[in-house]
Amino acid sequence: MLVANWKMNGSSALVNKWIEGVNSSIPEQIQSRCVFCPPTCFLYQASNLIKERDLKISLGAQDIDPISKTGLTGGISGFMLKELGCKYVIIGHSERRMHYKERNSLLIKKLLAAASEDLKIIFCIGESLQDKDAGKTYNTLKKQLEVISKVENAKLIIAYEPVWAIGSNNPAEPAYIEEVHNGISEELKSLKINELLGIMYGGSVKMDSAKQILSLNNVDGLLIGGASLNEAEFSNIALSSSA
Ligand code: PEP
Repeated sequence: MLVANWKMNGSSALVNKWIEGVNSSIPEQIQSRCVFCPPTCFLYQASNLIKERDLKISLGAQDIDPISKTGLTGGISGFMLKELGCKYVIIGHSERRMHYKERNSLLIKKLLAAASEDLKIIFCIGESLQDKDAGKTYNTLKKQLEVISKVENAKLIIAYEPVWAIGSNNPAEPAYIEEVHNGISEELKSLKINELLGIMYGGSVKMDSAKQILSLNNVDGLLIGGASLNEAEFSNIALSSSA
C-alpha cells in the first residue's frame, strides 16, 4: 500500500493535476493499492474527481476529531469524513504529536472515533533522534503502541516513521528499517488487535529508495510525504514498487 500524505500543502489546481496524472499513469490494479490524503479542504473535490473518473485510488483524511455530533468549533468527525468519501484516516502523526501535544489519552479517543465509523486507521509511531541515540527506540514505540489494544474493532495499519527521517531527505537505512519493523511485528503479536492490515514505513521515501524499502521483511507499504506532492514522482514510485 502507498499512502500520499500531502500534509498542509497543495491547492485546488494541484489536486486536479495530481488526480489526472495518477489516472493516466497508474493502472487500476496498482491504483487500488494507493491512498490519497490531501488536506481536509480538498477532500470533497478529490472525492468527486475520483468518482467522476472512476479511479480505484482510495481517499484518506490526515486527522479526525475525537468526538462527534456536538459543539466542537472547527471539528471534523468520522461521520463527516465518511460522507466526504474517506476510507482511511491518519492518526498519531509525529507532527501533530509535536505541535499539538497529542498524547495517548487523546489518541485513544481519536482511534475510537475512527473505529466507530469503520474507517481504516493509519496509526503513526516513531522515535525521536534523542530516543534513538539514548537506545530508547523500542521503549518509545512500545508506549505509542499501547493505545491500540484499548480499541476494539479497529482496522489498523501501523506506520513506522522515525521522526528524524521525516522531511530530512534521508530515509533510515534499510537494515535499521527491517530491524525495527521486525520488532514492531513481534510487539503487535502480543497486543489484542482486531484487524492488522500491515506495517508501513515513512520518512523521506523517494523514487530511488522506495523499491528497496518495500522489499524488506515486514514492510507492507510506504507513507510518502514530500515526494507524493508531485504526481509524476508518486506515480513512478507506485509503478516501480509494483514491478
Ligand atoms: C510524513 O510526514 O508522513 C512523511 C513520510 O514525510 P516525508 O516523506 O516528507 O519525509
